[in-house]
Amino acid sequence: MAWDFEAHCPECDHRWEGILIIYRLGDIPRPRDRTMANIGQLFCSYCYRLVCFPQRVARGSWARWRRECCDSESKPWQPILDKIGASLSAAPWYVRKPKVLIDADCPFCRRSMSPVRGDEMCVVCPRCACATVAVAEFNHSNIIELDDA
Ligand SMILES: [Zn+2]
Ligand SMILES: [Zn+2]
Repeated sequence: MAWDFEAHCPECDHRWEGILIIYRLGDIPRPRDRTMANIGQLFCSYCYRLVCFPQRVARGSWARWRRECCDSESKPWQPILDKIGASLSAAPWYVRKPKVLIDADCPFCRRSMSPVRGDEMCVVCPRCACATVAVAEFNHSNIIELDDA
């Protein structure tokens, strides 16, 4: 799943377009505004990759997903899949759906990925390397339309 975006850097006035690539790990709904609250997200501000995973998940359903649904698209995310597994194993046994707590480096550019809060996503300006440029015209529902079309 991918979506074009436009960004504008307030520091150097540079405008550019990029493509945001979204990966889904685990049995989670397609990203959209309302349900994003239950989805953990890590974003790479350099190569615009967003990885979504369940924020809370039962160990059994995670194991089942890895066994049955984990496909080639998830392959680069192996370290993150392992971390999610470790995070679930580390939670007390009586927690039915442990919270997934992970940090990770981007498997494509090796830089550290940052958690996304709400809809806010920041990209790094390719001209001045200012790291706090919010993605303009970013809209989850547009992603859905594009993907379903
Ligand atoms: Zn990256
Ligand atoms: Zn800039």
